[in-house]
Amino acid sequence: ASLWSNVEMGPPDAILGVTEAFKKDTNPNKINLGVGAYRDDNNKPFVLPSVRKAEAIMTSKALDKEYAPISGSAEFCHAAISLAFGEGSSVLQEGRNATVQGISGTGSLRIGSAFLAKFFPIKTVWFPSPTWGNHVPIFKHVGMEVKQYRYYDPKTCGFDFNGAMEDFKNMPDGSLVLLHACAHNPTGVDPNPEQWQAMSDLLKSKKALPFFDMAYQGFASGSVDKDAFAVRKFLDDGHNILLAQSFAKNMGLYGERAGAFTVVCSDKDGAARVMSQIKILIRPLYSNPPINGARIVSTILSDAALRSEWLTDVKGMADRIISMRTQLRANLEKEGSTRNWSHITDQIGMFCFTGMTPAQVEKLTKEFSVYLTKDGRISMAGITSANVAYLAKGMHAVTK
Ligand code: PMP
Repeated sequence: ASLWSNVEMGPPDAILGVTEAFKKDTNPNKINLGVGAYRDDNNKPFVLPSVRKAEAIMTSKALDKEYAPISGSAEFCHAAISLAFGEGSSVLQEGRNATVQGISGTGSLRIGSAFLAKFFPIKTVWFPSPTWGNHVPIFKHVGMEVKQYRYYDPKTCGFDFNGAMEDFKNMPDGSLVLLHACAHNPTGVDPNPEQWQAMSDLLKSKKALPFFDMAYQGFASGSVDKDAFAVRKFLDDGHNILLAQSFAKNMGLYGERAGAFTVVCSDKDGAARVMSQIKILIRPLYSNPPINGARIVSTILSDAALRSEWLTDVKGMADRIISMRTQLRANLEKEGSTRNWSHITDQIGMFCFTGMTPAQVEKLTKEFSVYLTKDGRISMAGITSANVAYLAKGMHAVTK
């Protein structure tokens, strides 16, 4: 027997499995709604024009390839956190943030989990139910226990506000609570501003530590400020939040792995101490982060003209997604569906939780070659002007 003969075969990744099955299908009408990356209306990967311009500027400068510091590019960190908190943020003026460059959103969450496992007194994290599939393994990886608060209400395909509030009330004081800043994945369901306010007040009274995962700033509504509402509201209310940011979606930098992790502290001295410890965690993990994506981000955000071009690009992506929501709903109605599909247009961001059952999903895949995860989640980015009518026909056929 070889050294690894007792290593068992692990299960395939649930989402990558969908794409594998899609690739094998020979139906010319097949649709892949499993992908978590933006596609243009021709179903092609999209590189933002502002990103192409930033790359041209970078090339013309013939930059070197020296290592970044352990905490990444300082220029990038400043640009990223200013985008999240807003230029006039008092936290930034007071220097109370410890911000490091992370390996996109996932790596930023992973550094955050390592920091919490080492320094936060309670080794439990509260996630919304359901949450992004990677949240649980990221926190389990550092030995933390995972609990869930109610979030999605299958009856309304909307937010279970009362359930979430009740679960917050019953959590131990000082609990760590993960919140999706906007465009909740996988449900597309976000609290409204009044609900965020109530959640902020309650979590404050519970002395909770809110950890925001912001993977879609600008990509949800088309406005980077609107999508940062919850994060900024919690800061205004005096929460010393944690934040993981990703530029995968809003700049289309998926494989560049540009992200940031921030701990808001009570004062500048606290931020310096926290920063020193985050660096100690990063050093043995990957030493220092990749430089190219961070350069693209800081080039765009620090140049006023390029930044405004990017804001147009990101709004263009958000608008296409929003328009596909409208068209999908309209086509379902045109097919004669009597079901209430208002959640398709109420939900926001890359994903839509359709409310289809696993049996309906299976039928949709078998009979129409439409590929999606069993939970009924569809990636809006996979829908185009050319396939939306066919998709509606299939969805109506399996749900009537
Ligand atoms: N958090 C959430 C909720 C996400 O949906 C994603 C992307 N699927 C991420 C974090 C991080 O992705 P990445 O590591 O590619 O930035």
